[in-house]
Amino acid sequence: MWTRCRQTMAVLPILTQESPILRQKAKRVPRVDSSIRKLIDDMVDTMVAAPGVGLAAPQVGVGLRVVVIKTDTNLHTLINPEMVKWEGEQIGLEGCLSIPGYVGEVKRYMQVVARGLNRHGKSVKIKGDALLARAIQHEIDHIDGILFTDRLTSLETLRKVEPQDQEKEAELVGA
Ligand code: ZN
Repeated sequence: MWTRCRQTMAVLPILTQESPILRQKAKRVPRVDSSIRKLIDDMVDTMVAAPGVGLAAPQVGVGLRVVVIKTDTNLHTLINPEMVKWEGEQIGLEGCLSIPGYVGEVKRYMQVVARGLNRHGKSVKIKGDALLARAIQHEIDHIDGILFTDRLTSLETLRKVEPQDQEKEAELVGA
Protein backbone atom coordinates (compact mmCIF):
# COMPACT_ATOMS: atom_id res chain seq x y z
CA MET A 1 0.00 0.00 0.00
CA TRP A 2 1.13 3.49 -0.63
CA THR A 3 -0.53 6.79 -0.14
CA ARG A 4 -0.84 9.06 -3.03
CA CYS A 5 -0.95 12.77 -3.08
CA ARG A 6 -4.28 14.13 -4.18
CA GLN A 7 -6.17 17.38 -4.23
CA THR A 8 -8.48 17.37 -1.25
CA MET A 9 -11.77 19.14 -1.11
CA ALA A 10 -11.95 21.94 1.36
CA VAL A 11 -15.47 22.48 2.54
CA LEU A 12 -15.41 25.43 4.91
CA PRO A 13 -17.90 26.20 7.67
CA ILE A 14 -20.48 28.75 6.57
CA LEU A 15 -20.91 31.58 9.06
CA THR A 16 -24.39 32.59 10.14
CA GLN A 17 -25.90 35.99 10.58
CA GLU A 18 -24.61 36.74 14.08
CA SER A 19 -21.01 36.77 12.77
CA PRO A 20 -19.78 40.39 12.61
CA ILE A 21 -17.84 39.83 9.35
CA LEU A 22 -21.17 39.38 7.52
CA ARG A 23 -21.98 42.99 8.41
CA GLN A 24 -18.71 44.51 7.23
CA LYS A 25 -17.86 45.93 3.85
CA ALA A 26 -15.35 43.51 2.36
CA LYS A 27 -12.02 44.78 0.99
CA ARG A 28 -11.07 44.84 -2.67
CA VAL A 29 -8.67 42.13 -3.80
CA PRO A 30 -5.45 43.95 -4.71
CA ARG A 31 -3.91 41.10 -6.71
CA VAL A 32 -5.32 37.81 -8.00
CA ASP A 33 -2.70 35.29 -6.91
CA SER A 34 -2.62 31.62 -5.92
CA SER A 35 -4.05 32.34 -2.46
CA ILE A 36 -7.10 33.91 -4.10
CA ARG A 37 -7.45 30.93 -6.46
CA LYS A 38 -7.28 28.59 -3.45
CA LEU A 39 -9.99 30.66 -1.74
CA ILE A 40 -12.16 30.41 -4.88
CA ASP A 41 -11.67 26.62 -5.06
CA ASP A 42 -12.63 26.26 -1.40
CA MET A 43 -15.66 28.52 -1.87
CA VAL A 44 -16.84 26.43 -4.84
CA ASP A 45 -16.42 23.19 -2.85
CA THR A 46 -18.34 24.75 0.05
CA MET A 47 -21.13 26.06 -2.21
CA VAL A 48 -21.54 22.70 -3.98
CA ALA A 49 -21.55 20.79 -0.68
CA ALA A 50 -24.14 23.09 0.94
CA PRO A 51 -25.71 22.84 -1.70
CA GLY A 52 -26.08 26.41 -2.81
CA VAL A 53 -26.47 28.69 -5.80
CA GLY A 54 -23.92 31.24 -4.66
CA LEU A 55 -21.44 32.13 -1.96
CA ALA A 56 -19.53 35.26 -0.96
CA ALA A 57 -16.14 35.22 0.79
CA PRO A 58 -17.39 36.85 4.03
CA GLN A 59 -19.71 33.83 4.47
CA VAL A 60 -16.59 31.69 4.98
CA GLY A 61 -14.95 34.31 7.18
CA VAL A 62 -12.82 36.09 4.57
CA GLY A 63 -13.39 39.83 4.23
CA LEU A 64 -12.55 40.08 0.54
CA ARG A 65 -14.69 41.00 -2.47
CA VAL A 66 -14.94 37.53 -4.03
CA VAL A 67 -18.16 35.75 -5.03
CA VAL A 68 -18.98 32.48 -6.75
CA ILE A 69 -22.31 31.59 -8.36
CA LYS A 70 -23.43 28.32 -9.87
CA THR A 71 -26.50 28.09 -12.02
CA ASP A 72 -27.58 25.00 -13.98
CA THR A 73 -24.92 25.23 -16.62
CA ASN A 74 -22.29 27.69 -15.53
CA LEU A 75 -19.95 28.43 -12.70
CA HIS A 76 -19.19 32.12 -12.34
CA THR A 77 -16.42 33.67 -10.31
CA LEU A 78 -16.25 37.41 -9.80
CA ILE A 79 -13.50 39.24 -7.97
CA ASN A 80 -14.18 42.89 -7.09
CA PRO A 81 -17.59 42.71 -8.79
CA GLU A 82 -19.57 45.79 -9.71
CA MET A 83 -22.98 46.11 -11.27
CA VAL A 84 -22.73 48.15 -14.45
CA LYS A 85 -26.29 47.77 -15.81
CA TRP A 86 -29.65 46.92 -14.31
CA GLU A 87 -33.27 46.98 -15.41
CA GLY A 88 -36.72 45.60 -14.74
CA GLU A 89 -37.83 44.07 -11.49
CA GLN A 90 -38.72 40.74 -9.98
CA ILE A 91 -40.34 39.98 -6.66
CA GLY A 92 -39.72 36.57 -5.17
CA LEU A 93 -38.87 34.61 -2.07
CA GLU A 94 -35.22 34.44 -1.19
CA GLY A 95 -33.15 32.53 1.33
CA CYS A 96 -29.52 32.54 2.42
CA LEU A 97 -27.00 29.92 3.57
CA SER A 98 -26.11 32.30 6.41
CA ILE A 99 -29.76 32.53 7.56
CA PRO A 100 -30.75 28.88 7.52
CA GLY A 101 -34.42 27.99 7.64
CA TYR A 102 -35.88 31.34 6.63
CA VAL A 103 -37.29 32.76 3.43
CA GLY A 104 -38.65 36.22 2.72
CA GLU A 105 -39.85 38.30 -0.18
CA VAL A 106 -37.26 40.51 -1.87
CA LYS A 107 -37.56 42.80 -4.88
CA ARG A 108 -34.60 42.67 -7.25
CA TYR A 109 -33.70 43.87 -10.72
CA MET A 110 -34.74 41.39 -13.41
CA GLN A 111 -31.61 41.81 -15.51
CA VAL A 112 -28.17 42.91 -14.46
CA VAL A 113 -24.71 43.09 -15.95
CA ALA A 114 -21.84 42.75 -13.51
CA ARG A 115 -18.17 43.30 -14.19
CA GLY A 116 -15.21 41.94 -12.29
CA LEU A 117 -12.09 39.83 -12.55
CA ASN A 118 -12.03 36.08 -13.08
CA ARG A 119 -9.66 33.63 -11.35
CA HIS A 120 -6.90 34.55 -13.78
CA GLY A 121 -7.21 38.25 -13.02
CA LYS A 122 -8.81 38.92 -16.38
CA SER A 123 -11.67 41.40 -16.68
CA VAL A 124 -15.01 39.70 -17.37
CA LYS A 125 -18.67 40.66 -17.64
CA ILE A 126 -21.61 38.48 -16.63
CA LYS A 127 -25.09 39.15 -17.93
CA GLY A 128 -27.72 37.73 -15.64
CA ASP A 129 -31.44 37.30 -16.07
CA ALA A 130 -34.05 36.15 -13.52
CA LEU A 131 -32.39 33.70 -11.07
CA LEU A 132 -28.83 34.54 -12.09
CA ALA A 133 -29.62 38.26 -11.78
CA ARG A 134 -31.06 37.63 -8.31
CA ALA A 135 -27.99 35.63 -7.27
CA ILE A 136 -25.57 38.31 -8.51
CA GLN A 137 -27.40 41.00 -6.51
CA HIS A 138 -27.61 38.77 -3.41
CA GLU A 139 -23.85 38.02 -3.52
CA ILE A 140 -22.78 41.62 -4.20
CA ASP A 141 -24.94 42.60 -1.21
CA HIS A 142 -22.99 40.11 0.92
CA ILE A 143 -19.66 41.80 0.21
CA ASP A 144 -21.24 45.11 1.19
CA GLY A 145 -22.42 43.65 4.51
CA ILE A 146 -26.07 43.50 3.45
CA LEU A 147 -28.32 40.47 4.04
CA PHE A 148 -31.59 39.70 2.24
CA THR A 149 -33.47 40.35 5.46
CA ASP A 150 -32.46 44.03 5.08
CA ARG A 151 -34.29 44.16 1.77
CA LEU A 152 -37.61 42.47 2.55
CA THR A 153 -40.64 43.98 0.81
CA SER A 154 -42.19 43.70 4.27
CA LEU A 155 -41.19 42.02 7.50
CA GLU A 156 -44.37 39.94 7.42
CA THR A 157 -43.08 38.03 4.41
CA LEU A 158 -40.24 36.54 6.47
CA ARG A 159 -41.09 33.07 7.66
CA LYS A 160 -39.55 29.91 8.92
CA VAL A 161 -39.61 26.91 6.64
CA GLU A 162 -38.65 23.32 7.12
CA PRO A 163 -35.28 22.60 5.49
CA GLN A 164 -36.89 20.12 3.08
CA ASP A 165 -39.41 22.75 1.96
CA GLN A 166 -36.98 25.60 1.49
CA GLU A 167 -35.98 24.61 -2.02
CA LYS A 168 -39.52 24.47 -3.37
CA GLU A 169 -40.67 27.53 -1.44
CA ALA A 170 -38.10 30.06 -2.55
CA GLU A 171 -36.84 31.33 -5.88
CA LEU A 172 -33.32 31.54 -4.54
CA VAL A 173 -32.07 29.52 -1.63
CA GLY A 174 -28.59 28.78 -0.52
CA ALA A 175 -26.72 31.80 -1.71
ZN1 ZN B 1 -26.71 34.75 1.25
